[in-house]
Amino acid sequence: MKVLVINCGSSSLKYQLIDSATESVLAKGLCERITIDGRLTHTTTGKEKYTVDLDMPDHKAAVKYVLDALVDPETGAIGSLDEIDACGHRIVHGGEKFAQSVVINDEVIKAIEECNDLAPLHNPANLIGIDACRKLMPGTPNVAVFDTAFHQTMPDVAYTYGIPYKYYEEYKIRRYGFHGTSHSFVSKRLAELMGKDIRNLKLIVCHLGNGSSISAVKGGKSVDTTMGLTPLAGLPMGTRSGDIDPAIIDFIAEKENLSIKEVNNILNKESGVYGLSGVSSDFRDLTAGMEAGNDRCRLALDVFCYNVKKYIGAYAAAMGGLDGIAFTAGIGENTAYVREKSLEDLGFLGINLNNEANSVRGEEALISTDDSKVQVWVVPTNEELAIARETVALVK
Ligand code: AMP
Repeated sequence: MKVLVINCGSSSLKYQLIDSATESVLAKGLCERITIDGRLTHTTTGKEKYTVDLDMPDHKAAVKYVLDALVDPETGAIGSLDEIDACGHRIVHGGEKFAQSVVINDEVIKAIEECNDLAPLHNPANLIGIDACRKLMPGTPNVAVFDTAFHQTMPDVAYTYGIPYKYYEEYKIRRYGFHGTSHSFVSKRLAELMGKDIRNLKLIVCHLGNGSSISAVKGGKSVDTTMGLTPLAGLPMGTRSGDIDPAIIDFIAEKENLSIKEVNNILNKESGVYGLSGVSSDFRDLTAGMEAGNDRCRLALDVFCYNVKKYIGAYAAAMGGLDGIAFTAGIGENTAYVREKSLEDLGFLGINLNNEANSVRGEEALISTDDSKVQVWVVPTNEELAIARETVALVK
């Protein structure tokens, strides 16, 4: 089957056309600046990558350009749209309604709309992408794959906040967690690499990218994760603060004469390692800055690593033990310093890093010593492939 995987952001759209038989990428690309002006970057495997400026007043226009690019006789990947057997859509928030992926129909769309409140920037964009595919490819099945679904197995003690219970009852305020597709994919792969049945394993997945989250996966099920009601919680990230004392919001608002919304914006866009270092949100820049003697870059990196370490300890406690850790996503796969620093002094938990093996970048590798009780692996994530697999499983 050929599956078109679509990931709509508020002003962007990423896509991959995947052949599920070989799990290979036939074409991929990105639409940027949707609603502003519009730019498409497209690559068909084996052909030259190109970028064109196109008028994209909305996501429907972007989807149309993507489909045109896929069937272009010279630069495209397929002869006609009939060759696309299904579309898989990444949906950010499924609330408590969706514990797994579903084939999209009118009822599902309504249920996703009801979660818009919980992800006001992302879910409406996701829905526009779905609507465009349904209109432009009538008859082609669409599947929704939720970032939150994998974490719906968390027990109440892990997802309940210490605020009046009525807010959970009335507004469904609770921990949901995100990056679920990645945590699911990577934990399964980690168990395979360890050669063990996931049902008997206690695993921690560190998805460290521009957005970062860690999950505790016990017996194949997510039992806790660092992100919360929104993806702002947990680790300090590229530009997001992660966990802070909630009273800080009011404090900054008063001192700087800002609204709650403005402070929220600072916590989302001007905080994290970017805010700390004053240099960059990119870990390559931070590592280079630290090596050049910039102490704020060192501090930003070390605050990040300290928090990763703290959550590893917390999740080992939550699961009553630990068998394996996976590092994934841009930082987890590529930044040896972060892996080393985050695991420093964790020998008491049976975690011993092999410093030589830890120099690996972007490929599957065992990076713990042979006698480490806990195996530590680098496991590249592949959210698009995971979405394609889910889509195939549902429409077959
Ligand atoms: P992601 O959100 O998973 O794409 O991850 C993006 C982050 O990964 C960026 O902020 C970079 O800091 C980091 N990253 C990506 N590639 C590398 C690399 N080759 N070396 C170090 N860090 C990298």
